[in-house]
Amino acid sequence: MKKHSFYDVFEACVNGKRYRNRPLSHNDMQMYRFLRAAQEVFKIHYYYGGAYTYKDESLTFGWQKSRFVALYEEQLSNKRAAGRKYYDVLVRLAPDNKCQVCLLGKVESLDHFLPKESYPSLSISPYNLVPCCLGCNGVKSTFKPSSPKRQAIHYKFDDIFSSDWLQGEYDCVNRKVVFSPNTCLYPEGSVAHARIATHMEVHGLHSVYELEALRKTREMVAYAKVEGISLEEHIHSELSKLADNARFYPRARHTFDHWKWVTCKALLASSVFMQSDYQWFENMKRYYLPGEGFEGL
Ligand SMILES: [Zn+2]
Repeated sequence: MKKHSFYDVFEACVNGKRYRNRPLSHNDMQMYRFLRAAQEVFKIHYYYGGAYTYKDESLTFGWQKSRFVALYEEQLSNKRAAGRKYYDVLVRLAPDNKCQVCLLGKVESLDHFLPKESYPSLSISPYNLVPCCLGCNGVKSTFKPSSPKRQAIHYKFDDIFSSDWLQGEYDCVNRKVVFSPNTCLYPEGSVAHARIATHMEVHGLHSVYELEALRKTREMVAYAKVEGISLEEHIHSELSKLADNARFYPRARHTFDHWKWVTCKALLASSVFMQSDYQWFENMKRYYLPGEGFEGL
């Protein structure tokens, strides 16, 4: 597979379609060196201190924020621009075309891990661009990591997503599965536990997963009823399907099925759900999230 470099991205953005093969000017080369150094510094900070330790130095070095933001908006993400080719390459980096924020939706865009308005030096850096679905893009637009625990999860620089990072519990008061960081792997009080919680909070993943879990629960209850099989048996067969997927393709459970896995486990573990509450889902006509709605509706 061909590997693209940051130079390729930068050159396409700066030269555009019209001057595709023009050598970069002295000023452009200075800008390139600054942006390349910035993304390497960001990576080093990420690994050794955390994303929150990275400081944008565009202004210190006399670069205008608007110039870097425009490079992204006009030359990289714009569908007719020369840099769009690399935007599309970055979008395709997502395994299974799954959003690398929620691991559920289809990838349709790129999101800045550190917002470009506050970190213009990373506006076109592949290290800072995360393939994501439209639902996740922009949700956390103003969020800036501020401490080791207040940082979201980066799909390439962290390995949390390839573990069983979530756990779920059936809440019999609100009749829904609620999701939280997996305390067996990431004990409460640990930095990883707090980061998962932050990631879920800033991207609104609690309600995203709760709604998917409601749909899945209703679907499994309806299937068991129609087929005349026991619900417990059906949920177990769903779990073994997920385990089979994971055997053939180890990341499968974590990339697109982890919330499903957690949902099945949470339902099986709840005697209230398995003995009586499941009947409530049989009669459920619509999907909704308890506690959410509009006045008058
Ligand atoms: Zn998403």
